[in-house]
Amino acid sequence: MLDFVVIFTKGGVVLWHSNASGSSFASCINSLIRGVILEDRNTEAKYFEEDNLAVQFKLDNELDLVYAAIFQKVIKLTYLDGFLSDMQVAFKDKFGGIPAAERLGGDYDFDREYRRVLSAAEEASAKQVKAPKAMRSYNESQKSKKTVASMIQDDKKPTEKRVNIQESTQPPSKQQSSPPPASMDDIIRENRRKLREKLTPTKKTSPGDPKPSKPSASEKAGKKPRVWDLGGNSKDAVMLDRSKDAPEDVQYQNINSELVGTMQGVIRDLDVESEDEVEDDGEESSSEEEEQQVQSKKSKRGGLLSYFKGIVGAKTMSLADLQPALEKMRDHLISKNVATEIAAKLCDSVATSLDGKQMGTFDSIASQVKEALTQSLVRILSPKRRIDIIRDALESKRNGRPYTIIFCGVNGVGKSTNLAKICFWLIENDFNVLIAACDTFRAGAVEQLRTHTRHLNALHPAAKHDGRTMVQLYEKGYGKDAAGIAMEAIKFAHDTRVDVVLVDTAGRMQDNEPLMRSLSKLIKVNNPDLVLFVGEALVGNEAVDQLVKFNQSLADYSSNENPHIIDGIVLTKFDTIDDKVGAAISMTYITGQPIVFVGTGQTYADLKAINVNAVVNSLMK
Ligand code: GDP
Repeated sequence: MLDFVVIFTKGGVVLWHSNASGSSFASCINSLIRGVILEDRNTEAKYFEEDNLAVQFKLDNELDLVYAAIFQKVIKLTYLDGFLSDMQVAFKDKFGGIPAAERLGGDYDFDREYRRVLSAAEEASAKQVKAPKAMRSYNESQKSKKTVASMIQDDKKPTEKRVNIQESTQPPSKQQSSPPPASMDDIIRENRRKLREKLTPTKKTSPGDPKPSKPSASEKAGKKPRVWDLGGNSKDAVMLDRSKDAPEDVQYQNINSELVGTMQGVIRDLDVESEDEVEDDGEESSSEEEEQQVQSKKSKRGGLLSYFKGIVGAKTMSLADLQPALEKMRDHLISKNVATEIAAKLCDSVATSLDGKQMGTFDSIASQVKEALTQSLVRILSPKRRIDIIRDALESKRNGRPYTIIFCGVNGVGKSTNLAKICFWLIENDFNVLIAACDTFRAGAVEQLRTHTRHLNALHPAAKHDGRTMVQLYEKGYGKDAAGIAMEAIKFAHDTRVDVVLVDTAGRMQDNEPLMRSLSKLIKVNNPDLVLFVGEALVGNEAVDQLVKFNQSLADYSSNENPHIIDGIVLTKFDTIDDKVGAAISMTYITGQPIVFVGTGQTYADLKAINVNAVVNSLMK
């Protein structure tokens, strides 16, 4: 039953309403006017709720009026759409001729029409409820039209779903293990699409290559061949086609190993311009450089710090003074991909450190905010536990056992690619490596690693390393128990004195309990030295959810008293996010686990260490 019906102008002036006891609905109508109509928000839905009331409304753009019906939200009224349309017609018939200028002052006697329209709508609806649909005869039903042939699924004829899977650039098994599409998935898919678009112009194509817009059937079926640009010279690009195993001489004839970057010892810092560096180098700079410094300082003030411009003077700061600036600062951090909750916490910490301090000039406040935020961010990003892979791998070598790293994460984040980059870095540091192919699920996963192994051996042939083969692949094909293969690989590495074992695992969604249980088992039975979680920098809040749930599952499903959870993070695709570096903050804030490597591209040399100052400065801009 309807509680209240009202007609008002879009500006909020009530022209007519259904009963005198409308005051109890005034607050709901006011909220609708303020929150929806005036702000022109969500008017498409034509539905609004407040407390236990619901409002269905209709906009009349010609007369600038709103027709609204209020009812208890637990009740379902199916006739409201038609009823409001009929109200509109009746009202227009009677009062549509009144000129707009006189409309507000008019006296609208609409009760009789309203009762007529309402009872017609209620009667029609009652009839619909009472008259049950006549049952269809068998001959009229869809079932009667089915033949035996139509019920047999023809594998060659793709269903709608299959077409989508084939059209996707991900291999089929990646899709199989994904959960049903959720809105967050859509965002990630969209980000990946943008990433693909971003990468397309840099892809090296030869005149003979098929046009990317019309992939052939075989290309559609598996992962796209990858281009490794070793050193940025298209001539030296190596096609990484996991779908077929081309003969070695064909695949590597163009590699010029001198073009490959060297990464000895420490991993290079992430290369993002740091404002501090500009400030510190001031003494040596020429007048042109000084000019640039001034510009840089100016632009710095235009960033996050500029929100504090209004807070100047002689009095002490209170939270109320700071609130508007802090809100803008929170939005700024969110716009840089910092997870919402963490952005709020960072603002709280800045507020606490400023509360009660002397205001002073903008410069003094800006530097206080910068100091407070920098302190919080540096604290978050600085590892609680130092992970020194080179030192630990050397220690293992001395003890005669291989150093083992297990890589985990969801599908498509770059596990295999970054495993290969880390392998390259280890070889450059003179460790030989065994890659254990424990993604026994996704078609093409083993071939992908085999191709990496060949590339890496071509770049670092045994001849250059006293006859030692620098990378080997341990693989047992598909469908086998991943934990068992990892165990055999570690034993093989131990027996043949291989220095490091890198274990690739199948991608899995963080909510997939059986797959998370099997990852937990793989880690438990193999007792690795390091478990690295691989996550994309471009997914923001979602990366946090993945990391938290991976950790939680490893803790929950391990029967160990001290379960081995994630030790560190490999943050991939950092080259694709411009200055939206927030995922780095969010991931480390939530779990306290350090970012051990940052993936910055698609060559073996695109592996960096996080540069805390650079990330902090980038967030401030
Ligand atoms: P996996 O399914 O997690 O093993 O993911 P892959 O290693 O197959 O990588 C998925 C895609 O991400 C590939 O196209 C990689 O080239 C790409 N990729 C991986 N790491 C990076 C990175 O750091 N930057 C960029 N731009 N692309 C990357």
